[in-house]
Amino acid sequence: MKLGLAWPWGLDFLERADGGGWAESEPDPKDPNAVERRRMVRYQLGGDRMRPIRHQGVLAAMDHVPRHEFVPANVRSEAYADWPLPIGFGQTISQPYIVALMTELLDPKPTDRILEIGTGSGYQAAVLSRLVARVFTMELNDDLACQAAARFARLGCRSIQLRIGDGHSGWPEQAPFDGIIVTCAPEAVPTPLVDQLSDVGRMVIPVGPPGDQVLYLLSKRYGRLEQQDVIPVRFVPMRRREPPAQ
Ligand code: SAH
Repeated sequence: MKLGLAWPWGLDFLERADGGGWAESEPDPKDPNAVERRRMVRYQLGGDRMRPIRHQGVLAAMDHVPRHEFVPANVRSEAYADWPLPIGFGQTISQPYIVALMTELLDPKPTDRILEIGTGSGYQAAVLSRLVARVFTMELNDDLACQAAARFARLGCRSIQLRIGDGHSGWPEQAPFDGIIVTCAPEAVPTPLVDQLSDVGRMVIPVGPPGDQVLYLLSKRYGRLEQQDVIPVRFVPMRRREPPAQ
């Protein structure tokens, strides 16, 4: 039976199996990337993980977004591997599982407006754009931002807006946000980001110095902020915009 969910994109690869679980239609065998992507979803995001990804929309988005388009040519053969990859300028695209986990923790809804800090390759933003109404993403590095913008245009990711700037101050003109996802690690949660969360918003953010970072899920509940420590993680540091040379 096909699943008839009223999402803005098609979830048509998902079908309900007889046993009540989920089974997928097969990817196009002539598209090796689609086959690898399906393997990534099946074997890296589900089953064996301590905390398997269960959000069907997240699994569908990860099955759809062409991760190989977001990594440099020299590591393209590893695009669907179970580890992070370098994207130039000393930065990395997260391992698929971490992208999926952070997306699931945000609990994305089709009407949400999400802020991402650390566009990098644009992959995380592209995954989110399959799940929510609008994605606002900020990147400090001009070159990475331009490359990501070109990808969004080429792949038709029209619901993503990109701004070059220091994410420590967030994007006040577009606040409040239903969710904020930070993909570089500050030493402490930047206060402007907390302020820009809606009254019931959620923030997923790695915090701490290199080598000692924890992924937090922060949930706002009408003025109070609840903190949940999820797992130890390793992210590139959140940097500050250098002051212009005198
Ligand atoms: N989400 C990305 C991975 C990001 S890597 C992806 O899907 O590919 C972290 C990124 O955060 C890097 O591109 C880095 O340049 C950026 N970054 C670091 N400090 C920042 C800051 N203060 N504001 C915005 N971006 C920042």
